[in-house]
Amino acid sequence: MKTRPVLDDILPYNPPRLEEEIQVDRGSKEFVKLTMNELSFGPLPEAREAIISSLSRAGRYPDRDSTPLRQAIANACPGVAPENIVVGNGSSEVLVDLMQTLERPGEVIIPWPSFPFYVSSANVVGLSVRKVDLDANHKADLDAMLSAVTGETRAVILCNPNNPSGTYHPLSEVRRFAEALPQNVLLILDEAYYEFVDDPLYEGSHELALESDNVVASRTFSKVHGLAAFRIGYGITSASFADYVWRAHVPFSVNQAGQAAATASMGQPEAIAERARLMKRERVRVQAGFEDAGLEYVPSHTNFVMVGAGPKVFEKTGVLVREGEALGYPVGWSRVTIGGPDENDRLLAALS
Ligand code: PMP
Repeated sequence: MKTRPVLDDILPYNPPRLEEEIQVDRGSKEFVKLTMNELSFGPLPEAREAIISSLSRAGRYPDRDSTPLRQAIANACPGVAPENIVVGNGSSEVLVDLMQTLERPGEVIIPWPSFPFYVSSANVVGLSVRKVDLDANHKADLDAMLSAVTGETRAVILCNPNNPSGTYHPLSEVRRFAEALPQNVLLILDEAYYEFVDDPLYEGSHELALESDNVVASRTFSKVHGLAAFRIGYGITSASFADYVWRAHVPFSVNQAGQAAATASMGQPEAIAERARLMKRERVRVQAGFEDAGLEYVPSHTNFVMVGAGPKVFEKTGVLVREGEALGYPVGWSRVTIGGPDENDRLLAALS
């Protein structure tokens, strides 16, 4: 069979130490899995109920337009209408749909280290990727990213806050960056960790997305909503660009149980905010533990922390973390997901 040469260089997503991680997913208590920035305690009770109720409709195709979900998202973001919202099978699929809209050949500029899927999702559709190193403070270097723009640039992705460094830019800086970009370059603001940022000056990128023709803010239900397995993400953008994104979208890719769960979860803003507050408190505690142990770390605005200790350090108490070198950081660093309080106790016990 004749396959496209570009696929030869794309490695399947294959995180290390998969076996132990799978054991945790199957219910083993032997290990604590802090590798994938998940919320270990899962969905809200209202979302669980919605999943169960959706079973009666499981023989039918899902609502292909995710209508109630788009309305619920619009209700939560002042000024946003359902026409401004695209939905995907996780924000990963939103990203793929966005890539599909871009003219080829062309280039996508990304910060680095950042979310590795940016590279493969661009390459698969025939776009090349230019990586721009984070600055000395582990933040996306906005000036260097702007300088990297050429006539070939089709999109710039700003992972805000950035995975795996956990750093962010406030809205004023994002706005300045958006205004400096040529109008024919798409700006993708990947805000998978939106709810964990503890700075009011960060919030509000959906306003920027509505004011511009070339900005998309993408968010997910996989993190603070605890719905990673149900695969729901969304993008907020101008109605005219949203219309194009839908054209690239695989019909019915967003399953009904996930739509129902995400809609129910969106209807409980106070409960979600309380979870975000808990994770922020736990993040403070984990970072203090790193500090007490004399470890270097990057102060985080997400539900994970990059720390200057190798995974072996945490294996002592059965805690699995992601190797830094799998994410573009040096050997001897790890990305540690903030878990629930008991999981973090076990993580910190490895340092005592
Ligand atoms: N963007 C970033 C920065 C991420 O870290 C992740 C997941 N780890 C995603 C997007 C994709 O999330 P999902 O497809 O589950 O919405």
